Amino acid sequence: MSTAFYTHAECRLHDMGAGHPECPQRLDAIGDHLRATGLDMALAFHDAPQATLEQIERAHTVGYVTQLREVMEQVAAEGQPRALDPDTIVGPGTWRAALRAAGAAVAATDEVLAGRAENAFCAVRPPGHHATRDETMGFCFFNNVAVAARHALDVHGLQRVAVIDFDVHHGNGTEDIVAGDERILMCSFFQHPLYPYSGAVPKGTNMVNVPIPPYTRGGELREILEAMWMPRLEEFKPQMLFISAGFDAHREDDLGQLGLVEADYEWITQRLVAVAARHAQRRIVSCLEGGYSLSALARSVAAHLRVLAGV
Ligand SMILES: [Zn+2]
Repeated sequence: MSTAFYTHAECRLHDMGAGHPECPQRLDAIGDHLRATGLDMALAFHDAPQATLEQIERAHTVGYVTQLREVMEQVAAEGQPRALDPDTIVGPGTWRAALRAAGAAVAATDEVLAGRAENAFCAVRPPGHHATRDETMGFCFFNNVAVAARHALDVHGLQRVAVIDFDVHHGNGTEDIVAGDERILMCSFFQHPLYPYSGAVPKGTNMVNVPIPPYTRGGELREILEAMWMPRLEEFKPQMLFISAGFDAHREDDLGQLGLVEADYEWITQRLVAVAARHAQRRIVSCLEGGYSLSALARSVAAHLRVLAGV
């Protein structure tokens, strides 16, 4: 049993322009650090397949997917980038990258549920947790984690899965998709107030939203999560865990003002691995969301992966 690592060269093709923090170099930084530390030896590498539209439409409306495909194919043909909102820009390579990102999450779910890997990490972009059922937002097009969670429920027949989101920003897109779906328990924390300024009032009883004030540090955050997340996860007994793994709550990340360090990501991962061991046959699929300080991102992903891989 091993930790599967999904990525694809086409995830680098999505480029929102010079100076945009959600850049292809994020994946290079992660890959370089894994090789430099030798952690790559503990992982089973896989090329991500493309998601099918049917898989994506388990989390998004058919109208949204159709319209986005038309825009993305037009942009690919013309070669001219187009901004769908001030933060979210379609370029010629975006369609292929977005299909690989969602496809990674689906394939990782298949791999873990087949018992070929204990858990999996998807080093992919574009990220997904701000993408709602029918809107792009905040660097996100397809909600990779929601697509994977629905795949586990609708295709593999699981009855209960947990989605855990530790990105510094509220996963409003995931909440939009899963709120009210009682097969899913979503636990998140996020800096509040901060973009997208939502989440303080949860949209469903299956949502455990934990707003955190700016400048909170790891020690304090651990106590809050222990009290707010853990009892709900234990009670829910998820059969599989999906993680929206954003690393922008790191103290070196300029997009948020929280004070986490690598040891905090290690602790969060350990707590989730323990829940998965008790209830979910150790099954976890984790997908990269944010994290924009390249060095802090690479070190934090490594801390997360060391716990997943048990090395
Ligand atoms: Zn974020």
